Amino acid sequence: MKRWFSVFIISIFAIAAVSLVVVQLIQTRRTFSISDNMFSVSVGNAMEEVIKQLDSDKPYNSANFSYQDLDSLIVEELIINGIDMHPVIGVYDGSQGSFLYSSNPRHEDDLEYSPYRYSFRPQGVVSSSQYFIILSFPDAELFLQRNPNLYLYMSIFLLLIIAVMFILSLRTIANQRKLDQMKNEFINNMTHEIKTPISTISLACEMLSDETISQDNASRANFINIVADENQRMRLLVETILQSAKMGNKNFSMNPKEVDFNALTDKVLTSFKLTLANRGGSVERHLDATPSIVIADELHMTNLIYNLVDNGIKYSTGAPHIVVSTAIEGKHFVIRVQDHGIGIAKADQKHIFEKFYRVSTGNVHNVKGFGIGLNYVAQVVRLHHGHIALESEPGQGSTFIVSLPLKA
Ligand code: ADP
Repeated sequence: MKRWFSVFIISIFAIAAVSLVVVQLIQTRRTFSISDNMFSVSVGNAMEEVIKQLDSDKPYNSANFSYQDLDSLIVEELIINGIDMHPVIGVYDGSQGSFLYSSNPRHEDDLEYSPYRYSFRPQGVVSSSQYFIILSFPDAELFLQRNPNLYLYMSIFLLLIIAVMFILSLRTIANQRKLDQMKNEFINNMTHEIKTPISTISLACEMLSDETISQDNASRANFINIVADENQRMRLLVETILQSAKMGNKNFSMNPKEVDFNALTDKVLTSFKLTLANRGGSVERHLDATPSIVIADELHMTNLIYNLVDNGIKYSTGAPHIVVSTAIEGKHFVIRVQDHGIGIAKADQKHIFEKFYRVSTGNVHNVKGFGIGLNYVAQVVRLHHGHIALESEPGQGSTFIVSLPLKA
């Protein structure tokens, strides 16, 4: 995905998310104020009815009046008006400045400051005292769910979940695109890599079928060398691609047995004789490990050494000089493949074992490849419970160090 497009999408999402929270907040506040008003109106209606009844049916000063009756009357009227709550109820004598009754003395302070205050005249007579019935609703907050922060936090939390999902989707899309691009590059490279040796081989065969050339021993040998060289290149290519694909399969199994590593390394190095001769290069062997028997899969180990040496040659400018050594270090068999080629920058070293990764700086890639060789090597090492390390300086060369446990 293009960078500017991602930034554009993320900005739109961020603006939409913030706007959503603001709209939600405004809406919530509006709802609260409407429900607050409705609550006050309902309490007012209920109390109007209570006072009407107090003034007529159950005179406040009559002998059969009790505050319990007052409580039940108020609760009853509140329920009729849609408020299913039990308020704190107080009867206040305004002229004395004290409560004559309060249903919960602990809440007298609340009563004093409550806005739900209704004056009444006992028996409808204007008395010298001013009486008030005061109600307080300590549970009103819960009843009205008046806590706007709760809604805000919930909205933010949900938005965060959506944002995380959004980012994950963006990343998946970006990864998919990268993978697609890698796949295309891989197919392009592979076509090129396979086409070149095929045309070289067919050209060499054509030359060999020409009688004037086939009778000249030196030319004949030269063309046979070219065919053998190109053939070896294709073999490694096909082998690496096949084995690498097989490793992704969960039914993949290895075939470990006793392998003489010094002999194996020697065999692989010998097969590079022609390639090295063609480029005027050389290989130095220090196969000093004794004993050199390791329990390993012979085919994968052959490919491993092959890949490392092949890279050493590929990424050397001029005549390649490769040094291969084996040694026993502690409980490990260690093989080092050193070249004096272009080297690998620190930033690339971290990624070098990733599938399809190729160094893209400089003009490294007049050398063709797929970026799967080192990933395959790393997987082989991992399957053998070993370890691979890289020491490299750009312009100086690289050393790949593979250590394998002597006892698998
Ligand atoms: P390929 O060689 O097919 O591109 P590899 O997985 O073998 O793929 O290597 C990945 C990348 O690592 C190469 O493209 C190259 O840039 C870099 N590389 C590997 N070996 C060496 C080396 N010996 N010297 C310098 N660069 C190397």
